[in-house]
Amino acid sequence: MNKTSASGDPVFAIPAFKDNYIWAIRTGPAGLAVVDPGDAAAVQAVLDAKGWTLDAILITHHHWDHTGGIKALVARHAVPVYGPANEAIEGITVPLAEGDQVQLQGLGPLQVLAVPGHTLDHIAYFGQGMLFCGDTLFSGGCGRLFEGDAATLYGSLQKLAALPDQTRVYCTHEYTQANLGFALKVEPANQALKAYAEDVAELRRQGQPTLPSTLAKEKAINPFLRVEQTAIKTAAEAFAQAPCQTAVSVFAALRRYKDVS
Ligand SMILES: [Zn+2]
Repeated sequence: MNKTSASGDPVFAIPAFKDNYIWAIRTGPAGLAVVDPGDAAAVQAVLDAKGWTLDAILITHHHWDHTGGIKALVARHAVPVYGPANEAIEGITVPLAEGDQVQLQGLGPLQVLAVPGHTLDHIAYFGQGMLFCGDTLFSGGCGRLFEGDAATLYGSLQKLAALPDQTRVYCTHEYTQANLGFALKVEPANQALKAYAEDVAELRRQGQPTLPSTLAKEKAINPFLRVEQTAIKTAAEAFAQAPCQTAVSVFAALRRYKDVS
């Protein structure tokens, strides 16, 4: 499970539900913080197996598969629950907004970024070379537009893309392989994308996570970060059956295209 520990990465995945990852951050020899614990039992099983204690809970947005485990976890562990300043989320004890920082034990600060679009309350956590971006950016894709509009989500993705290239991207879902099927449809000649799709297929054959990704990787292969590319603009316009004059309009058409693909 802790496949990257040898490289010093303090983060590992706790699988939950069909394709969620609850990201677990080591906060010392026996401490753990978890991001978006939709399933308390999955987290508790790791704590019990390792004899570790829970230090903190971080939430990115209000969807149940990210928040459903809060209540049961805080009933057993008196820990701070960081998350968006959204009253709809029960159990948040430290409401956060753009510009705030979270200081976890044994780790440098994580900055809070407002990244609305998938939901309006969505935040991401960035620091120490890591980005926890929930359902905003996926490897090879991006979140669906449930609450924001295309321009809002596009702006949020641009904000994430401006972070350092080597940033490791911890998204909540193992959607990579399906996303790359669509990416190849709209940018079939992208060599980096083709090579990545082969790597991902092999990882999935072995039952391994495809995450974390990196921002450098995503900028090379993710169509939602590549709307200025001619092939992607052409594919978006063919789907929309109309010219797309701006990056946002390409992005909006691409998002609708993916929704029906
Ligand atoms: Zn969501």
